[in-house]
Amino acid sequence: MKIRAQIGKVLNLDKCIGCHTCSVTCKQVWTNRDGVEYAWFNNVESKPGVGFPQQWENQELWHGGWQLGKGESLRPKIGGKWRILSKIFANPNLPQLDDYYEPFDFDYAALQNEKSEQVVTSVRPYSRITGQVMDKIEKGPNWEESLGTEFKQRSRDYNFRNIEKEIYGQFENSFLMFLPRLCEHCLNPTCVASCPSGSIYKREEDGIVLVDQEKCRGWRMCVSGCPYKKIYYNWHTGKSEKCVFCYPRIESGQPTVCSETCVGRIRYLGVMLYDADKIETAAATKNPEDAYQEQLDLFLNPHDPAVIEQARRDGISEAWIEAAQRSPVYRMIKEWKIAFPLHPEYRTLPMVWYIPPLSPIQEAASAGSLETLNGIPDINSLRIPVQYLANMLTAGDEVPVKAALNCLLALRAYMRRFQIENVRDTTLLQTTGLSEQ
Ligand code: SF4
Ligand code: SF4
Repeated sequence: MKIRAQIGKVLNLDKCIGCHTCSVTCKQVWTNRDGVEYAWFNNVESKPGVGFPQQWENQELWHGGWQLGKGESLRPKIGGKWRILSKIFANPNLPQLDDYYEPFDFDYAALQNEKSEQVVTSVRPYSRITGQVMDKIEKGPNWEESLGTEFKQRSRDYNFRNIEKEIYGQFENSFLMFLPRLCEHCLNPTCVASCPSGSIYKREEDGIVLVDQEKCRGWRMCVSGCPYKKIYYNWHTGKSEKCVFCYPRIESGQPTVCSETCVGRIRYLGVMLYDADKIETAAATKNPEDAYQEQLDLFLNPHDPAVIEQARRDGISEAWIEAAQRSPVYRMIKEWKIAFPLHPEYRTLPMVWYIPPLSPIQEAASAGSLETLNGIPDINSLRIPVQYLANMLTAGDEVPVKAALNCLLALRAYMRRFQIENVRDTTLLQTTGLSEQ
């Protein structure tokens, strides 16, 4: 056994309100520059929805695989030369600007100068890449929400998986959730493996994945190689860039910008200890439905004296061992099993995990119609289908997702009773394995 430490995140989707504060503050700090206008190290997607870049979860079907030669729209003219973002010999699987959407902005002074009685603005948006006025905007973040039922029609073109086709646009079945996304700082990062220049590396001390800007030759194999499409080509510098997990802040004991500014307080940071010798086996899991469990098995109990001793022998500092012992991420992932990896079937062993959202209908919950035995709401009455969440978080295995949702529902019922009636009803926790601690 060889122990390594990794910083990771858990995002509680139950609390995300889709406000994009995380995306905007991240952009202000890291990507508010030429060449990466279109890139969002952190973005927030509406689900069901096409995602960013569109169809990142559906890459084999989209355009029959992202194809060479579709990059015509991303040819910004910089310094008199056309720069092509995505055409590159022998590297066909690259999203195009159209897949990310053209970043746009408005002339705010012109907007303010408009006459107050003008109901519809005549100020047109302009492209942040070319500076040209755009007559029509057809894509943007969370675009699905604006399209409404038209999106159902379009979803046929988008090769949506059946469950999304069935659900979207049926009023009585409709639901909405938000999925904030960033680089997963994977334990088995395919961006590192696919880089011919050896410019991408995973830091030994904390597992943060970085691109050495001196070494990067702009081949963009990493963009093809990352299944989460969370590494971006900067057409201005000719190098690839990605989320750096705000490492200068982490090194000085501060949280990442997105965590610190998150309005919903959904982002938990923490250290995990894992067995690096088992990475290869876990990454080679054949059955997709085993992928979540295989990754879970990698994580070690930081309170186990044998683990602590081995961690010291493997050079993990006392500060990091202590951080692992205090880690909320460890408790949510390993002890309580309420958090899950995003698409573990991709086998990169991602390290941003998600607590699935609860979706009880509030009026029904108050009226008691969601209540079953023991006063715990019935999981089958949730608005978001469990299978939909399982497809996203456990390669389709509903069992662990159901257990987590039950646990969250029981905890909510327990806390509600305690706060309203001041009664500690531990019977509500019996089915979950949780204690009052
Ligand atoms: Fe690399 Fe993509 Fe994993 Fe980030 S999410 S570490 S870019 S493979
Ligand atoms: Fe969600 Fe927090 Fe980002 Fe707002 S800031 S969209 S609540 S993750």
